[in-house]
Amino acid sequence: MVKLDLDHIYKKYDNAEDYSVTDFDLHIKDKEFIVFVGPSGCGKSTTLRMIAGLEDISEGEFKIDDRVVNDVAPKDRDIAMVFQNYALYPHMTVYDNMAFGLKLRKYSKEEIKKRVSHAADILGLTEYLQRKPAALSGGQRQRVALGRAIVRDAPIFLMDEPLSNLDAKLRVSMRAQIAKLHQELGTTTIYVTHDQTEAMTMADRIVIMKDGKIQQVGSPQEVYDD
Ligand code: ADP
Ligand code: ADP
Repeated sequence: MVKLDLDHIYKKYDNAEDYSVTDFDLHIKDKEFIVFVGPSGCGKSTTLRMIAGLEDISEGEFKIDDRVVNDVAPKDRDIAMVFQNYALYPHMTVYDNMAFGLKLRKYSKEEIKKRVSHAADILGLTEYLQRKPAALSGGQRQRVALGRAIVRDAPIFLMDEPLSNLDAKLRVSMRAQIAKLHQELGTTTIYVTHDQTEAMTMADRIVIMKDGKIQQVGSPQEVYDD
């Protein structure tokens, strides 16, 4: 069970005059798939980065399962994250790319093998494990980036525009794969996009942001009806 509470969160960057995020108040249920949507600059990434611990929260409280984690380091938050510019290590094989974070954390060889094999199986990468990223298509590379995140087995999964570098056809098939992944892993997920169709097809609940504020929250149906 992992629920997330964002209680009246504000963010002002040190070098900025204005707040980038204002009174962001949201309560996310266990296993929910939440999508933040809104135009460029509305505060989606900033909010996600505060959740990941990569940016400080200026005001307000962020709780994971009722525990305030504002001052907890990213690596201690049990969060996996995938970015738009997923940099794979070019000199490493797919296997080693996926294993890297686990090696750093001193997992045993057997455990690493088990987790990487399982992730490769789920993502359809088994036959590519010994290839280097340059020998993969864009979609396969993005699946490796997803694999690198899911081997962590973290209960919270954050994705920041993970598909925006892919062509339209690939985006549609990756959407379905991410939705399936979410079902299989049962993670509490936040997905950031500026693509409304993506939001409508993937979300349990959509959070529409504008100028650093939440403008509307609801199921795709509720948001669509308005
Ligand atoms: P989005 O992800 O919706 O495109 P961002 O969270 O990146 O929006 O940006 C929200 C606002 O915060 C914007 O006005 C942006 O210019 C500003 N901002 C983002 N990052 C920084 C930063 N590191 N320093 C100062 N201002 C920033
Ligand atoms: P990697 O697979 O690159 O070794 P890890 O899975 O070990 O990354 O993640 C280490 C921490 O760094 C994570 O807690 C996460 O918040 C952050 N992180 C993961 N991937 C990235 C990235 N591509 N860019 C910036 N920070 C990242």
